[in-house]
Amino acid sequence: MKPLELGATLHVAADPRTSFSSLAALGLTTAQIFPPYSLDAAATKAAADENGIEITAVIAHFEGEDYANIPTVSRTVGLVPLATREERTAHFLRLAEFAAVIGVHQVQTHIGFVPEDEADPNYAALVEHTQSICDHLAVENQIFALETGQETAKTLARFLTDVNRANLRLNFDPANMIMYGNDTPLAALELLYPYIQSVHIKDGIWPAQSGQLGAEAPFGEGQVDFPTFLPRLLELGFRGSLTIEREIEGEAQKRDILTAISGVEEILKAAGV
Ligand code: MG
Repeated sequence: MKPLELGATLHVAADPRTSFSSLAALGLTTAQIFPPYSLDAAATKAAADENGIEITAVIAHFEGEDYANIPTVSRTVGLVPLATREERTAHFLRLAEFAAVIGVHQVQTHIGFVPEDEADPNYAALVEHTQSICDHLAVENQIFALETGQETAKTLARFLTDVNRANLRLNFDPANMIMYGNDTPLAALELLYPYIQSVHIKDGIWPAQSGQLGAEAPFGEGQVDFPTFLPRLLELGFRGSLTIEREIEGEAQKRDILTAISGVEEILKAAGV
């Protein structure tokens, strides 16, 4: 992959060719994918190759997750909830295997709300559980990338230190920092930069009240301040993939992705990249 190559998150359909060709039609060359339900590795890889798309990450999401508001996210998302931890981990490891077959190094998910209080009885168990996933992935030389934003940057940094595995990395999502009401993306970037593997280009708006979730917004219409964020990311030395994430569907999604492409290209150009 060339440095700073632009891509998008992509839900791969039953016929992977339709998904990858629609991404290529937007002029994109990388994708972080939600695999097709079939987990047909050969068809997925062939469709990506045919369309000149490099798959930079495989993303896992889990049945039963609900992003309605912060308490619901806390109860339902990721590997933190104990009731579903085992079955979800098995699913995650199946996706890691799928990723290995198609030659993808990065396996990614929202782990869920890491407890802010390290004395929380669930905290130590989550650290240990994450270590075992990292060690499993290390066999295939893969990294476990956590999506940022649900917990504060400070809690996440402490968690990464406590897990203490070189293949535990971050997919930094600046909009999530805002939408969960946790940190400004710039402050979080300074703290978490050493762990950042990849970045989501997503915009968002602060929640109106604490406990609520803020809203995702089209690129440039939210509060991420990309004209400051992206140059600082480059200044820190980031040259990984930039993955546009716009969590809506259809023509409106295509339009917003195109807006994000031109917005990012303009900022990179002004920064001399
Ligand atoms: Mg994201």
